[in-house]
Amino acid sequence: MQNYQMLIDGQWVDSCSTATLESINPYTGQVWAKIPRAQIEDADAAVRAAHQALKRGPWGRLTAGARSMHLRKLGDLITSNAETLARTEVQDNGKLYAEMRAQVNAVAQMAYFFAGLADKIEGSVPPPDRAGMLTYTRREPVGVVVCIVPWNSPLALLASKAFPALAAGCTLVVKPSEHASASSLEFGRLLELAGFPPGVVNIVTGLGAEIGEALVSHPLVAKIAFTGGESSGQRVNELAARDFKGVTMELGGKSPNIVFDDASLEDAVNGAVAGIFGAAGQTCIAGSRLLVQANIHDELVARLIAVAKVARMGDPNLAETQIGPIATKPQYQKILEYIQIAKDEGANCVLGGRASKELGGLFIEPTIFTGINNDMRIAREEVFGPVLSIIKFRDEAEALSIANDTVYGLAAGVWTQNMGRAFRVVNALEAGTVWVNTYRALGVHMPFGGVKRSGLGRENGIEAIEGYLHTKSVWLNY
Ligand code: NAD
Repeated sequence: MQNYQMLIDGQWVDSCSTATLESINPYTGQVWAKIPRAQIEDADAAVRAAHQALKRGPWGRLTAGARSMHLRKLGDLITSNAETLARTEVQDNGKLYAEMRAQVNAVAQMAYFFAGLADKIEGSVPPPDRAGMLTYTRREPVGVVVCIVPWNSPLALLASKAFPALAAGCTLVVKPSEHASASSLEFGRLLELAGFPPGVVNIVTGLGAEIGEALVSHPLVAKIAFTGGESSGQRVNELAARDFKGVTMELGGKSPNIVFDDASLEDAVNGAVAGIFGAAGQTCIAGSRLLVQANIHDELVARLIAVAKVARMGDPNLAETQIGPIATKPQYQKILEYIQIAKDEGANCVLGGRASKELGGLFIEPTIFTGINNDMRIAREEVFGPVLSIIKFRDEAEALSIANDTVYGLAAGVWTQNMGRAFRVVNALEAGTVWVNTYRALGVHMPFGGVKRSGLGRENGIEAIEGYLHTKSVWLNY
């Protein structure tokens, strides 16, 4: 059993009440770690430490080049500790080890990417509109940033907030999910080794409704970078709006993956499988609605079933495993409820549709529904599990109308050999990311975020750093 502590002002501490929460390994069902259940006093101490580090500590006075070096060192430490970070997350949320190793590498790349930007933050010198006046702008860190992270990819989603914020010169309080905090706490150990001064990054663990809200509402906090579900995002956004705090919101999706009849069906099938069954469908970008042109529908469904039914479920530590467990019991139950809803709505279950009890752990078989229309709940609500809804369309216009008929707008896929059509569809899709003849490709160089109810602002890419800076205009009379 691992007993974790929180990082506040450079010290590893328990909650002031000594209360703890249990972390359950979703593959074994065993409690494998305990984490502190922070109280409001702990949240307050963390925010004050971050504020102090910004205003009075060395961090606020460091050169951009020195901040860059800290991030580079952190990137090196992430690489040399990749095994621990990956194994920790596999235990905590059941992610596949192979996928985690790749994700940890990507997190190190993110550190280097934002290290490279830290010393390229420039103000401007607009020509003055009168004699004897110098006018210029300074780009300054927004202040203390609260990073709120979900359970499905904690390390990567922490990094996508923390690295641009640190590059910009902000200080942080990180609040990982109560279901998967361990990789964030392991990350905290690396911050110390990288030489980040006390208080620059604080990590507090606990419940969203308890300390999450206390952090968001704290008067010394300037900005909230949030990834999570729609209802908690809405609550966080409302609390932040009361004090006019800035927010970045990375929320849910119901992403359409559109296959036209001129696509390579083999590629489209592989892309559809990766899009919905990768990470057992527990990704915000899951291609959960597969829109298939009517004349290839039956062939595509047959091919899809053939590939998905041989996907190997099991121990997430093994290299041959393709689908791991569902991360938490509540999520497992929610997915099974949605499968029942789809059946009750009259959808046709052509693969899976049940829990896989013989494996132990929280496993749900890859599930495919046909006969879906876009008004059904299974086509409108985020399931966040290995459940694919297949919807037929006649032509391009109908495909676009179905694809955009959703409150979400995170991602979308298009499969076609006709490049004219590809460009038309890309332009018309209401989504923050569109993939053509691929799916689920991600990289730190590309901005990521949603439109509509999928979010506000962007992570990754050069523009991510803008979310952590404000502009000060200076008028100097000489
Ligand atoms: P969640 O909303 O339940 O929790 C996310 C985080 O918010 C947790 O740390 C939680 O403790 C905290 N939280 C919850 N209520 C809060 C409140 N009132 N005040 C402050 N903090 C609060 O989400 P989850 O179940 O952990 O994650 C799954 C969701 O995240 C899905 O909807 C998924 O689509 C979304 N997600 C989005 C992206 C993206 O980049 N767009 C990426 C991954 C996951």
